Amino acid sequence: MSSSAIDVLVVGGGPAGMAAGIAFGRGGLRTLVCERGPLPADKPCGEGVMPTGLQYLERLGVSAFLNQNHTRPFTGVHYLSTAGAGASARFAEGPGQGIRRTELSRAFCERARKIDGLEVRPRTPVTLGARGPDGAEAWLDGRRVTARLIVGADGFRSEVRRWAGLQGVCPRRRRFAVQQHFRCQPWSEYVEVHWAEDAEVYVTPCGREEVGVAVLWAAEKKKSVGGQRLMASMLSRFPRLSASLQGAEPSAEARAIGPMHQVARSPVSDGVALVGDASGYLDAITGEGISLALAQVQALYDSIGSWMLSNSSAPSARELQGYSRRISGMVRQHQRITRLVLFLSRNPRLAERAIRGLARQPELFRWLLSANMGAVSAASFPRLEVMRLATALVLG
Ligand SMILES: Cc1cc2nc3c(=O)[nH]c(=O)nc-3n(C[C@H](O)[C@H](O)[C@H](O)COP(=O)(O)OP(=O)(O)OC[C@H]3O[C@@H](n4cnc5c(N)ncnc54)[C@H](O)[C@@H]3O)c2cc1C
Repeated sequence: MSSSAIDVLVVGGGPAGMAAGIAFGRGGLRTLVCERGPLPADKPCGEGVMPTGLQYLERLGVSAFLNQNHTRPFTGVHYLSTAGAGASARFAEGPGQGIRRTELSRAFCERARKIDGLEVRPRTPVTLGARGPDGAEAWLDGRRVTARLIVGADGFRSEVRRWAGLQGVCPRRRRFAVQQHFRCQPWSEYVEVHWAEDAEVYVTPCGREEVGVAVLWAAEKKKSVGGQRLMASMLSRFPRLSASLQGAEPSAEARAIGPMHQVARSPVSDGVALVGDASGYLDAITGEGISLALAQVQALYDSIGSWMLSNSSAPSARELQGYSRRISGMVRQHQRITRLVLFLSRNPRLAERAIRGLARQPELFRWLLSANMGAVSAASFPRLEVMRLATALVLG
C-alpha cells in the first residue's frame, strides 16, 4: 500500500481485527490490518467457537480455509464438579468447533489475501498520534499513515482504548488463566467444564489428537511459578480430569494470562471504534469471546460501512453511536450470564447445587447456552424452569 492515507486502520490481527479487515476490505474501503506479533498468531484461549461464531466465519468466507485436521466439532457443554455432580446440554443451534488459534489465524490470513484493497502486516506495532476531523495519524515502521477510522482490535489490554480516552475502571477482584494443549484423542463430544473450590478448568477438543485445557482462578496476582509448574499444580485440584489426561504429553508450552476483567467506558469515540476484547472483557468462564467479537465486527460494518463509502471525513462519535447501540444489548446479555456463572464460581456449594439442578433440567441448560451466545433473547427465559432451579439452589 503506497498511499499514506487510508480509510480504515485496524490495530490488532486477532479474530476481531482480521474479521474487521475482511469486512471493510471487501466492502470497498482501503483497509490496513497491523499485527504487532507474527502471523498466524497464537494466544492462550479455550478455542471453542460457538455455533453462532461458526456462522460468522462462514459469512466472512473464512470457514473454507480451515484445515479440519486442526479442528474438532463439539455438541454442547458438560459441567462436572469435583464432588461428583454432572450436567450436560447440547446446543440447540448445532455443533460448535474447537479450532486451534494458529489454525484460525492462518485461515483468516488466507481469506484476507483474496481481498483487493486489504493489506495485512504482521510484526507491525502501531503507535497512534493526533486525531482530527479527517482522521487520525498513526506510525508504523517509522512511516506516517492517516486513517479515517481506527478500529481498536488490540485485545483486552488495548492501547487504542487508552489512547482514545475510553479506559474504564477495572475491578479489584482479578481472575487469571493458564492454558496448555495435550496430545491425546478427545474423549468427549462436549466442552467439559470442571468446577473445584477455587478454580475452574475447561477442556476443548481441538483436533483429531489434541485437547486444549484452560484453568481459571481468582487471585491477587498471577502466580509466579512458571507456566508448566503452574499448570501441573492447578490440575492437581481436578483428580477426574488428571485421570483423563494420564499419559497425555503436552503438545505446547503452558501460558498464563490476566487479569481478564477489563472495562471500556464506551466502544466509540471520534474516529475510533473498539471491537472484540478491546471493547471490554469480563471473563473466559463462558467461553464465547471469539463469537462475540465476530458479532461486534458485523454490527460495526453494518452501522458505518456505507457511511464510510459515501463520505470522505472521519466518522464522529455520533455517527458511530449506531454501532454502540447495536452491541450494547448483546454484550449486556452475555455479561449477565457470565456474572451469574462467576457468582457460582465464588460459591462452590451453590455451584454444586446448580449443576445438580441443571442435570434435572437440560432444557434450561440448553436455553442458557443459547442466551449466552446471543441466539435467543434473555426476555424469553423459561420462567418455570428458572423457578425450579432457584428452588434447588435454596433447598439443595
Ligand atoms: C483463558 C482463556 C480462554 C478463552 N476461551 C475461549 C473460548 O473457548 N472460546 C472463545 O470464543 N473465546 C475464548 N476466550 C476469549 C478469546 O480468546 C477472546 O475473546 C478473543 O481472542 C478476542 O479476540 P480479539 O481479536 O479481540 O483479541 P486478541 O485475540 O487478543 O487479539 C488482539 C491482537 O492485537 C495485537 N496487538 C496488541 N497491541 C497491538 C498494537 N499496538 N499494534 C498491533 N497489534 C497489536 C495482539 O498481538 C493480538 O494478536 C478465552 C480467553 C481466555 C483468556
